[in-house]
Amino acid sequence: MSPSLLWFRRDLRVADHPALAMAAENGPVLAVFVLDPTLVSTSGRPRASALRDALLALDEAIGHRLCVVRGDPATEIPRLAEAIGAGTVVVSADHGPYGTRRDAAVERTLAEAGRGFVRVGSPYAVTPGRVLTANGTPYKVFTPFRRAWYEHGWPAPADTGSESAEWLDPAEIALPEHRPDTDRPLRDLLRSTLGTGDSPLEVCESAASAQWADFLEHGLPGYADDRDRPDLDATSRLGAQLKFGTIHPRTILADLAALGPTTGLGTGLAESRDAFASELAWREFYADVLHHYPSTAGGNVDVRWDRFPWVSGDHADEAFAAWRDGRTGYPIVDAGMRQLLAEGWMHNRLRMVVASFLTKDLRVHWRRGARHFMDHLVDGDLASNQHGWQWTAGTGTDAAPYFRVFNPVTQGKRFDPEGDYVRRWVPELRGIAGAAVHTPREGGHGDYPAPIVDHAEARREALALYDSVIRGA
Ligand code: FAD
Repeated sequence: MSPSLLWFRRDLRVADHPALAMAAENGPVLAVFVLDPTLVSTSGRPRASALRDALLALDEAIGHRLCVVRGDPATEIPRLAEAIGAGTVVVSADHGPYGTRRDAAVERTLAEAGRGFVRVGSPYAVTPGRVLTANGTPYKVFTPFRRAWYEHGWPAPADTGSESAEWLDPAEIALPEHRPDTDRPLRDLLRSTLGTGDSPLEVCESAASAQWADFLEHGLPGYADDRDRPDLDATSRLGAQLKFGTIHPRTILADLAALGPTTGLGTGLAESRDAFASELAWREFYADVLHHYPSTAGGNVDVRWDRFPWVSGDHADEAFAAWRDGRTGYPIVDAGMRQLLAEGWMHNRLRMVVASFLTKDLRVHWRRGARHFMDHLVDGDLASNQHGWQWTAGTGTDAAPYFRVFNPVTQGKRFDPEGDYVRRWVPELRGIAGAAVHTPREGGHGDYPAPIVDHAEARREALALYDSVIRGA
């Protein structure tokens, strides 16, 4: 029997945790989280606050035995492993470009000291890289990926909890060169590193379970019909919980399966179950694409778009600022952008509408919009965000044809039919009743601005440029 080190990352829970089960097999377990300056500096404020709360909750769940240290994981993890004489370090695998490099560096250093680094499970139902075509190549189109993903299947949830391990007390670990940051109260350490602001959403394992149970009972039946309506509270808002791993998609998929055979469900619930599982499949698809093509975190999936003449300079800066601040004069765009700033979240339909507006109407590079989203979204996730942007911009995977340009007025009228969503977020327009609120006003409306571009004209210009990119002109 020798102790193991369980290095938590995007798996901040104790239920359904295969890596925890594996770590606990050989003896006591030291639970560790590393505040890695590289990741902390790229986490927007809402995600930093959510991480702080999720870590505090995890610490509480395991009897205040979470060891949190600041520093480079390639130094800190081997140092802690040595301090407790761990034979192995166990993790849930990370497939992002940075995480893959970081883990390889940690693995090398551990190996030099004769210690193992074991990856068990991942934040996905199917580990990225596992779903391949018959020729052994990755999928680049969603629908066939989803089919193969279903066929591949996934294991049942792992039966774990806080009692699954004998947790070592970090306060009793003597480190050769410095004590872990554990001689400071954890709350202080986390607040000084991750900030003191409120998280826009309670992100922790118990909140995730409660949120999912509530959605399963009350939200799921209407999901297929209402999920595109930003004026209704019709989606799960589980993105941030999935991002931090306070719930695993396997648990969600198992609960969906437990609803029983499709024939017994009634059409609404059956369709909703399929629609919800399909959204989870998008998340898995994008993680898979990023795993195979790490350069797509910043570069175009479809490299023909490297030639596209995105605007730059003062003109682009002004357009970007109007978009960012919710002052484009297109009410549905502005409502979405203001909700993002206020709540750290935006409805999927609006993410598409505002991303289309920035990249197609304003012709500002998708990377700039993606960065703004990552700074503000509490569910900000590199794979889903960069590929959601590329899908909308037309530079990405799949059948989002470049000539699909979202019309912000018709999208508004269709998906916010009474205009309630716009009036909630754009108080300047509260005096305008019904769907008329979606119509841009040439001279503005009181303090509300006139449209910064003419959509029809901008669309024509973008299409002409897109056409020249596609024809290679
Ligand atoms: P629900 O409708 O309840 O969906 C359940 C879960 O399925 C979500 O929590 C999410 O994990 C997954 N999901 C749903 N739609 C998608 C999708 N299109 N792509 C990938 N996963 C999906 N999602 C993120 O999790 N993080 C991001 O940073 C992110 N950025 C996006 C940027 C753009 C430009 C676009 C168009 C989409 C982006 N999405 C992102 C996908 C989607 O908008 C969000 O997952 C969803 O709005 C989150 O709200 P929800 O949890 O209520 O979703």
